[in-house]
Amino acid sequence: MAAGKVTVKEAQELIRRVAVKKQETDEAVLWEAGGRVLAEDLRARFSHPPFPRSPLDGYAVQAQDLKDAGPDGPACLQVTEKVCAGQCSKRRLKPGEAVRIMTGAPIPAGADTVVRQEDTDYGEREVRIYKRQDAYDNYCPEGEDFREGDVLIQQGARMDAVRIGIAASAGYSRIRVRKKVRTAVLSTGTELCAPGMPLGEGQIYDSSLYLIAERVRELGGELVMAERVPDEEQALRAYLRRAKTCADLVVTTGGVSVGEKDLVRKALEQEGARFLFDRVLVKPGSPTTASILGTTLVFSLSGNPFAAAVHLELLVRTATASFLGCEETAPSEKEGILISEFQRPCRTDRWIRGREESGRIWIPETKEKSGILSSMEGCSCLVKIEKDRERIAKGEKVWYIRI
Ligand code: AMP
Ligand code: MG
Repeated sequence: MAAGKVTVKEAQELIRRVAVKKQETDEAVLWEAGGRVLAEDLRARFSHPPFPRSPLDGYAVQAQDLKDAGPDGPACLQVTEKVCAGQCSKRRLKPGEAVRIMTGAPIPAGADTVVRQEDTDYGEREVRIYKRQDAYDNYCPEGEDFREGDVLIQQGARMDAVRIGIAASAGYSRIRVRKKVRTAVLSTGTELCAPGMPLGEGQIYDSSLYLIAERVRELGGELVMAERVPDEEQALRAYLRRAKTCADLVVTTGGVSVGEKDLVRKALEQEGARFLFDRVLVKPGSPTTASILGTTLVFSLSGNPFAAAVHLELLVRTATASFLGCEETAPSEKEGILISEFQRPCRTDRWIRGREESGRIWIPETKEKSGILSSMEGCSCLVKIEKDRERIAKGEKVWYIRI
């Protein structure tokens, strides 16, 4: 095994170099496009709204007819027709006329403003209007939201509810998205038991596998394999052989340390993997490795669920973002202000669980061990404690990533 120890930044750089953006795309129906990454800019094929429309229920008129209107001297106009949303007036409005109009209906040609019905006597044949207003008051022009040709969403964006709503408003029922990252996950440990099965002596439930699988899905991965194997070299090798034929990305958890039964590195070596790095200068989870098996990128994370979670966020997420060309999901370090105190020197950089709001970071007084997952609940960020930093006082700066 050649490659050696790297910092997190170096690891991320190496990962970005090999996790090359996928060129293959899918057409996703809008109903199922949540979480997918847009493969091409989404452009408006027409202006929206496609016609000037009324923002309220009232009367469409010409503003000049209201120039002398007031509470004591209303303008009196002839109501020529009624248009509701979804209907269209066929005539051009003339001076002295009003069209009864409802919210969302096209403003008839010739009208330049809409009077709120509350400022009138609600007349049906004739309407009295008690207020003057200017042209284009209460008037939504054509293309107010967007105009034909506008780029509404840029390629590389991850579709969320708002973006799906925007695509729908532009009339798209399907969009071009990048293919998901085909991901195989594996947990290894003879002590691991599947949730739902009775725990045997010396066993614990396998949690890291589920954590990784769900996070990978959130990050745009598609699970093509999810398995649990005991600490046996042959079982690991058999898994790796199958995974490399069907996955772009493999994430294993457990068995990567230096114990007698930590056989993942050996299995990878035996299968001919080329290591990008075999240790990361960070806590927790320093034995994390990345390697290339055939054309598949393999991450081997610690079995400890919190350590696995940290490297999912720092490294695996770098890979999924890079494969998908989706910069917004890559872990990006931001500077925040610590609002609680932290004291615990460490000789290596350490990432710990935190909560963040508008760049203000709070480190809960919690169980901070890599084997403990429950205290990560509700945490919204990971905070970097740089090595040899003795004590961080309230108000000092820290680096963090959102999770
Ligand atoms: P390992 O990384 O295999 O050395 O495991 C480190 C610690 O994490 C041990 O206490 C394991 O029992 C535990 N562990 C390993 N894999 C898992 C898993 N999939 N879920 C929960 N805990 C695990
Ligand atoms: Mg183990």
